[in-house]
Amino acid sequence: MVKTEKRICLIEASDISRAAALIRAGELVAFPTETVYGLGANALDAEAVAKIYIAKGRPAESPLIVHVDSIEMARSLVREWPIKADLLARRFWPGPLTLVLPKQPHIPDLVTAGLDTVGIRMPANNIALALIREAGVPIAAPSANRFTELSPTTAEHVRESMGDRVAMVLDGGRTTVGIESTVLSLAGPDALLLRPGMLTKSEIEEVIGAVDVARALGTGAHPSPGMHQRHYSPRTRLVLVDDSQLPSAGRGAYLWISQSVHAACMIQMPGQPRAYAAVLYEKLHQADAQGWDWIAVEKPPLAPEWAGIHDRLQRAAAK
Ligand code: AMP
Ligand code: MG
Repeated sequence: MVKTEKRICLIEASDISRAAALIRAGELVAFPTETVYGLGANALDAEAVAKIYIAKGRPAESPLIVHVDSIEMARSLVREWPIKADLLARRFWPGPLTLVLPKQPHIPDLVTAGLDTVGIRMPANNIALALIREAGVPIAAPSANRFTELSPTTAEHVRESMGDRVAMVLDGGRTTVGIESTVLSLAGPDALLLRPGMLTKSEIEEVIGAVDVARALGTGAHPSPGMHQRHYSPRTRLVLVDDSQLPSAGRGAYLWISQSVHAACMIQMPGQPRAYAAVLYEKLHQADAQGWDWIAVEKPPLAPEWAGIHDRLQRAAAK
């Protein structure tokens, strides 16, 4: 049995061995991390990585995050391991922080979408770590959903969206963080935040000093491929609302924190950002499955701890 954060899951050591053998054989395995479920392949095998893009229906200009089980494995993938990377990895790994660094030539271009940099992280999930360790190779993985759709936070979400497209789904229960990792580039002269997440800019700054924010973060054009404006979206039209201004036409679901007004389906969300992120995608998956005309979401507070959540909601609402 493998112990995860809060519970014992019905995963046997033999499941990990089978999954690791599939990874080594160039197949796809979906696995839990603390953020969302990943669709994994051997990051050093270009043919295996190609299967990820096919399964997701994802354009090949989106770089994939490479998952490692140790700082040592991370260092084997990069040309430079700056002091800032070392400080951050020691402080926040395993955890929801992806570091972008100059890549070694043996990482296939398909993993990095042709960029000279690679995004790496060590996930805080014992099933993920055991899988990487037993496979003995770094595992490239985007979220285990079809391109532009909502990310999966349960194995059930993965089976619904990708079930017939993966060799195996490792079920680790619900993910705990609930939205994708914070992405920080250390490849340039200054640290640059490429994607906000639940690990905040100020938590990073406490360790390495000032961090720049990529221009137009959360609203559109980004300096790296793969940061599409529309992303993380339910099929149902999603609108972000101020002052409880729900769409006037049609019936919908309303995810609210503080302002309760009448909608056909009322979903109360937690008032704390960590608790909110942990359930956001699950609530969106639920509302999406109910066939409403729209899903309205009350804009969360504009405080820094909510930055990752704002980013995902804005992209989910983008047309
Ligand atoms: P996802 O599709 O949710 O797995 O997100 C992967 C994200 O990681 C991409 O959209 C990029 O924001 C980021 N990323 C991964 N590798 C790189 C890289 N080499 N350079 C810049 N960003 C990267
Ligand atoms: Mg994704």
